[in-house]
Parts: sequence; structure tokens; C-alpha cells
Amino acid sequence: MPTVVLMGTTWVSATDRSGTAPSLRAVLFDMDGTLVETEQYWGQAMFELARVLGGRMSEAARTATVGSSLRRSMTILHADLGLVRTEEQLQSDARWVEDRTAELLSDGISWCPGARELVRTVRAQGLRTALVTTTPRRLAEIVLRTIRADLHGDPFDVTVCGDEVPARKPDPAPYRQAMAALGVAPEECVVVEDSVAGITAGLASGAAVLGVPAVQEVAPAPGLTVRDGLLGVGPAELAAVLAESHLDDVPA
Ligand SMILES: [Mg+2]
Repeated sequence: MPTVVLMGTTWVSATDRSGTAPSLRAVLFDMDGTLVETEQYWGQAMFELARVLGGRMSEAARTATVGSSLRRSMTILHADLGLVRTEEQLQSDARWVEDRTAELLSDGISWCPGARELVRTVRAQGLRTALVTTTPRRLAEIVLRTIRADLHGDPFDVTVCGDEVPARKPDPAPYRQAMAALGVAPEECVVVEDSVAGITAGLASGAAVLGVPAVQEVAPAPGLTVRDGLLGVGPAELAAVLAESHLDDVPA
């Protein structure tokens, strides 16, 4: 393997000698708000549910739900509206939002700027790929069908959905499950995420994280690189994110 030079930093790939940082083998992508602009649909469905329940969801509550499970989102919404709901009502509200979001997703989905090119070039480089989403399989499949049709094939080796994991982001379990399925170690992976919950999950899994927050504020953390978006990001930039995270490990 040749020496790789990126962003003014020179390092040697893991196969060259022991003790050096591992090279990039896999990229694990969040879905909503990272690859596709679907967060607005979840938001719209929740604002509509709030009206059905006779209230109005605040922007702050909506922001807090980004990247969360439906259960947690419903708890935030109910607290915001000052409602006390039974477990049965909570589940029925969650189903309402899921069904309404499914309707909205079926009308069409847009890539986030730069995401399509990133997925294509990561694939073309022969890197392993996973989609790791908190969204349930039923809804994720609507998005995946669109992505597969657009790219004329499935760009993901592994897909892990919110109803297929023992714990959801910010727990690292979904990312660890995807890494195990891909047969890669965390230190060979970059996670691409937009939400605080997702970034937290990626870092806790041991991967380097490229954060592209659009709605939530993200605090600096070791292993985390933050950018405005994915425009201009390709495999070389992701390799640099991984290399920088390993530099964080080395004592000065
Ligand atoms: Mg997201």
C-alpha cells in the first residue's frame, strides 16, 4: 500500500507496519437528515399530530426530537403539549406519525447535497458500506427503494433499522451490529451523522465520526470532525477524518 497524503498530514496505512493507524475499510451512514432530506417529513407529521391532539408543537420540542426514536419523540411532544397519555395512546400516536411519514416519503425523497456523490464514490473505491438508521424497516425500505432505483443497485452491504437492534442511538448498539455484519473493526470505520444522538452513538461505538449537523448544535469531541454538509466530501476526506481521529489517540 502506498503512503497516503491528505490535508498536509502523512501517515502510513495499517498494512505497512505495525503500530500505525488502521486505514479506512468501511463507511456507515445515518439515513434521515444525513443522506436524504426526510427530517422535514417527520417534523411535518409531528406538527400535524399536535394539531390533531388540540395543540401546537414548539420548534424547540421539534428540534429535540431529531434523531430520536418515535417513543422518545412522542414523550417530548406530549410534554411540550402538556398532555398525559397512556401507553396505549402513546403507541397509537407513534403509529399515526409513522403512517403519515410513510405517506409523505412515498411522494418523493431528495438526497442531501453531496450525499449521492459521496455514496457513489465510496462504493466505487470498494469500501464496505452500511446504512444505520433509527427509522423502522418499513419506512426505511421506502427510502431504500428510491435510492436503489436512483443508483441502479444497492449501495449498502448492510442495513440496520431501528426495529432490529437491542438499543437505539445514542446507544452504540446499532453501529456495533453493523460493524459485526460488515466484519470490520471500529477503528477502520467512519460514521456519517447529522444528529447529536447519532454522533454520540458513532463515537461510543469506537468509530471516527463526520458530523454534518443541520438542526442541532454539536459540541466538539475527540474523534469527531464537523462540516457544514457533504458537498465535496469523498473517500479521501473520510480517510482524513479517520486519520485525524487516530491522531487524537496519540499523546502529544
Ligand atoms: Mg439523522
